[in-house]
Amino acid sequence: MQESMKRQKIECWQCKRIFSLLIDTAGEPTLTKACPYCNAPLKLDFGGQPQNIVTVMRGAARSQPQEITVYQLPEILESSDPSLPQ
Ligand SMILES: [Zn+2]
Repeated sequence: MQESMKRQKIECWQCKRIFSLLIDTAGEPTLTKACPYCNAPLKLDFGGQPQNIVTVMRGAARSQPQEITVYQLPEILESSDPSLPQ
């Protein structure tokens, strides 16, 4: 099951173009990717809105279901410069 893998629209903080990347919304809430247009490093932080978290159960046939957190992302996720201090 790969239901947490999502093709997410992302806006580059540098060139402002919008593109889509396949990201794992059940993984780390902070990801570092690169813009396919200008190659700028992108910091994606989708953990900042806890009200948008849902929990789903998933597991293989003979294993216990596992609770994971899947982040519900906006239509277009803004990125930021990873070299900037938080
Ligand atoms: Zn860019």
